[in-house]
Amino acid sequence: MSAADRQRSCAACGGSFAPGERTGLEAVLDGEILYVAVHPWHSTYPPRREAEATRRLTTVTAA
Ligand SMILES: [Zn+2]
Repeated sequence: MSAADRQRSCAACGGSFAPGERTGLEAVLDGEILYVAVHPWHSTYPPRREAEATRRLTTVTAA
């Protein structure tokens, strides 16, 4: 069973995969190597950093 079948949803955005949808696989180190399924255009890494930067920018702009 693939990671996508097991998860049924994207590890990055939490959105569910459409049946037969192409998914990306990402290795996550959490004590052991885990493979998580994500949408091909998503990653559990960069979006988080971008969200951080966006929040910081938003905070600066708001202040
Ligand atoms: Zn996603």
